[in-house]
Amino acid sequence: MFSERDRQSPMQRSGAIEVVCGSMFSGKTEELIRRMKRAQFAKQRVEIFKPAIDVRYSETEVVSHNRNTIPSTPVDSSSSILLLATDVDVVGIDEAQFFDMGIVDVCRELSRRGIRVIVAGLDMDFKGTPFGPMPSLMAIADDVFKAHAICVRCGNLANFSHRLVRSSKQVLLGETENYEPLCRECYNKAMEELHNEQTDHAE
Ligand code: ZN
Repeated sequence: MFSERDRQSPMQRSGAIEVVCGSMFSGKTEELIRRMKRAQFAKQRVEIFKPAIDVRYSETEVVSHNRNTIPSTPVDSSSSILLLATDVDVVGIDEAQFFDMGIVDVCRELSRRGIRVIVAGLDMDFKGTPFGPMPSLMAIADDVFKAHAICVRCGNLANFSHRLVRSSKQVLLGETENYEPLCRECYNKAMEELHNEQTDHAE
């Protein structure tokens, strides 16, 4: 979990891209905040960006579910990050799954400028489908860390965000109470139950 490179390594000087991904309740935002705070301790200039769409708790702070906060800047599109990320050593990007595909080139450009980029986001949506730009970000990253939640049904490691309300929209805000983390086996069972329910209704 605590895999970070030394700042003196040649890779850091030439910039780097790190991805922290996982399901809801996996602690990925906490991990982003932890890395950003350690960079602050090292006297590095840090800045966090998040999509303006993510207004769950706060407009200007990245808030993880355990209320550990760090100031952040909401932006409407990925291109704004390039304009705003001046005089920084480390750029954090939270809820990256909600950004447009341009975020991939933005991360590449930031790393080209010698910046360490730490990206956090949901790897899959509630259907288990790769979420927005996340798969591409994982592909171009130097390092990918997959965080896991705990399955609320069996206690195993969970990597799926199971939606408790019936809606096919990919983005559902006001999230936390509408989802539960499930392991693959329990998620598959839940999907089977949903499928059976739907075919019962159709008859
Ligand atoms: Zn389970």
